[in-house]
Formats: sequence, C-alpha cells, structure tokens
Amino acid sequence: MRMLDLILKKRDGGALTEGEIRFFVDGVVRGTIPDYQVSAFLMAVYFRGMTEAEVAALTEAMRTSGEVLDLSVVPGVKVDKHSTGGVGDKTTLVALPLAAAVGVKAPKMSGRGLGHTGGTIDKLEAIPGFRTALDREAFLRQVDAVGFAVVGQTEGLVPADRALYALRDVTGTVDSIPLIASSIMSKKLAAGADAIVLDVKVGRGAFMPDEASARALAEAMIAIGRRLGKRTHAILTAMDEPLGREVGNANEVAEAIRVLRGEGPADVEEVAVVVAAEMVLLAGLAPDRAAAVAAVREALADGRGLGAFRAFVAAQGGDPAVVDAPEAVLPRPHHRAAVVAWADGVVTALDARAVGEAAMRAGAGRATKEAAIDLAAGVHLRKKTGEVVRRGEVLADVLASRPIPEDAVLRLREAYALGETAEDAGLAGRAAGGPASKVLAILDG
Ligand code: URA
Repeated sequence: MRMLDLILKKRDGGALTEGEIRFFVDGVVRGTIPDYQVSAFLMAVYFRGMTEAEVAALTEAMRTSGEVLDLSVVPGVKVDKHSTGGVGDKTTLVALPLAAAVGVKAPKMSGRGLGHTGGTIDKLEAIPGFRTALDREAFLRQVDAVGFAVVGQTEGLVPADRALYALRDVTGTVDSIPLIASSIMSKKLAAGADAIVLDVKVGRGAFMPDEASARALAEAMIAIGRRLGKRTHAILTAMDEPLGREVGNANEVAEAIRVLRGEGPADVEEVAVVVAAEMVLLAGLAPDRAAAVAAVREALADGRGLGAFRAFVAAQGGDPAVVDAPEAVLPRPHHRAAVVAWADGVVTALDARAVGEAAMRAGAGRATKEAAIDLAAGVHLRKKTGEVVRRGEVLADVLASRPIPEDAVLRLREAYALGETAEDAGLAGRAAGGPASKVLAILDG
C-alpha cells in the first residue's frame, strides 16, 4: 500500500477501506509516513470529509494504537463524561459527585487547560495535596469505593492522537468534524468505560460556534459509539458566555463546592444536573430521564453529592477541609483589578473566549503546553448577560497572586457589551426571568 494512493483517493472524494485507514494510523504511530504526507491527507479529509464507516474505522485504529484500559474488575456499568471544552466549565466537579451519589461508577481522565479553555486537572491541583496521577490499581479501587476518580490522561493512551493533533494544530486542520470526533472518541473508548456522556459546547467560547455544527459533531460521535458498541449520549450546552461566575482554577473549585452545597449559580447547577442525569440513565439506575433528574436533584438537595466530593478529595490525597472552608484552604489571589461599567444599561453580551483569554493572561491558563500557571489567578464575573449595571459599578475582577498585567484587564473589558435595555439586545426574556437555559438539546442516538 502506498500513502500517495490514499491521499489521491481522499483528495478525489473516495472512501477509504478499513485496511487503508489502519495502514495510515500505523504509519503515523511508527513514523513511517512523513509529516508532509500525513498533513496532505489531513487536509484532504478536511475538505472531503469522511463517511460514518470511515470515521468509525479511524477511531478504532486510533483507539488501539496504544494502551487500552480494562475496567472490568470494577463491577457495574462504568460511565465516562467528556466536555469539548469551555470557559468556566467546572461541570465535571459537580456532575461526577452527583452521579456517584446516585450509584454511577465514573472513571475519568481529564486534561489540562490550553489557550482560553480551562482543564479539570489544573483545577483539582488547586486543592492542597490533591494527586492527579494514580496508579492503575489505586484508580480502579477508588472508582469502586468512592464511585469516581479523576486523573490526568496517561501517556500511553492513543499515541496516534498525539501525533495527529500536533500536525493538525500547525496545518489548519483542527476544526474538521471527522478528525475531532475520532480524536475525542478514540481517547474515550481507550479509557474503557461502558457508556459515554458528551457535553458538546456551542458558542463563542467553544470549538463549535453554532448549534448546527455542534449537533453535527455530537451526531458524528454518537454514530462512532453506535458502530463501536458504546452507548453514547450528547448534550449541547451554550458557551457564548462563561459557565458560572468564576473562571480560573482555585476559584472554580470553590464555585463547584458552592453548587454542591446548593448555593451555586443556576447555570452550573443546571448543566451539571443534566450531565449527571444522563450518566445515571446510561448506568441503568433510572427508568427514564425524568426519574434520573429527580434522583440527581435529591442527591444534591440532601448533601450526598457534597459528601461524594469530600470522599473523592480525601481519596486522592487532597485536604477535605476544602469542602467546609474553600477560601481558607485554596490558594488566594493577592492582587485584584476591576473592570467597571462605562455606562448605565444592561450587559447584552459577555464573550466567553475573551474572558478565557483574560484569565489566561492573568496566569490562570497557558499559551503553550509547557507554561506554568498561577492556581489563584482567574476572573470573577459580577455581572453577566441580561443583568442591569450602573456606570462605575464593577463588572468583573481579574485575580492573581502576582501583579496583574494590564492586557488581562483590557481583554476582560473587551468581553463586555453594554446596551441601553435588555429588549434592545433581544434579551427581553432574560431581563425578567434570570438566566436562560444553557441546555440546548439532548441527543441520545
Ligand atoms: N478535543 C480533542 O480531544 N480533540 C480534538 O480534535 C478537538 C478537541
């Protein structure tokens, strides 16, 4: 088989066979196909797309390109959860304890933040003592005993994705649905769970800017799950503005704990409850969606979710006192800079990407994979879309342990748009009724 023939076939709109796709993935991993040919192939896929069968074959070849976890020693249905990435997205920190409190077993590998989006592993490392690397046995024991564990992705998992992503990143081929879907699903499938809940973010702060493209990505991933025998549900959630009022690391952990106490922002609670309920449903612990939501809401109301979070923190070496006094235990920012309203009016837009970039410039995120982060840094949003403001009132604060760079404050100011009235900005329902629902659709194949 020659790589040139595969490139020509895809360039001309043909569909590759399973054998051809495996040849490609093997060559990528073994380094026998030069980067220029891999790049040309990726660009051909970008323009020509792939059939459902091709995407499934690509995912399967990627999945088996490295280590594949076997979770069978943990009894019960194991359910994984994945977010396509957002700003202020602390959903995992709330949804997993809630799902675990209802009886779900959730083994989770998470990533670190990059660019304007945060990562759960960085957030958890804000808890003193918390270990995000566990050996296999400890990970499985914890999933069984506590119901969930969250660790960083192991190096050996899906080496094909690492090689392909590095080239996609520099060849303008990241935002291709077949490539994103196979990248995400190969890692989820290699991580070994029986079922998967995907939180596909839609909007300015997300990979997918509009609902149609997010739906197409979600459907592509559900189809992979169907073809490869993993039940997969997807939830489309809005990411035009950040989720919750905290963007960063330590401050997001504190906000997640507030939500688990029943004191958190409604939008975070809503998304987390819906995600946890899908996990409960897929685990077979509720007869239908309404019953799953009710079970999760009960675990939130009676404090079992908070209890599961405490047990999780303690099991991974973190200080469980964080649950009772987050501000006393988590790293605190010593510097704060405010963005104030320049006019009376209403917040008509709050650009999640700009907020994420402001938080990154303050030190909460990294522009390159190697950069160090300031766990106390971030953004606190006092005003969000639809809220009334007075000239001179603080809209948001930039937080950091170090003096705050001016460009972080400038970027945060750019995130806000103010209008005279909510009606002018098409937010009439918002002004009277509080935040709009963040859950746009649930797709269950
Ligand atoms: N997340 C992934 O893991 N892969 C992609 O290609 C895009 C987002």
